[in-house]
Amino acid sequence: MHLEEMKKEIERLVLEKGFYNKPEDVPKKLLFAFIELGEASDAWKKGKSEEVIGEELIDVIFYVLDASRLACSTINMDEMFLKKLEKNKKRQYQYGEGHRLESN
Ligand SMILES: [Mg+2]
Repeated sequence: MHLEEMKKEIERLVLEKGFYNKPEDVPKKLLFAFIELGEASDAWKKGKSEEVIGEELIDVIFYVLDASRLACSTINMDEMFLKKLEKNKKRQYQYGEGHRLESN
């Protein structure tokens, strides 16, 4: 499933369950994404299973994509992912080429 398909599934769920669904709800959804990141971190620190950690990380993706639906609805997130991936590939090695020489 691609990001745009995931967005559509999330939208169906939001409408079906009566969750927040207005542009002014974007900050709440982004806050919830942070909360889920905290839950993932807490699960990892407590030695929870990979299943639990993975579920918390998926919660983050849910909220991020849900926020994207309302915050930047004209943006195709699959295209944005590829665009950003290409941009990141052009970044220099970690904190600069000097670190590559030190670690290799
Ligand atoms: Mg959670």
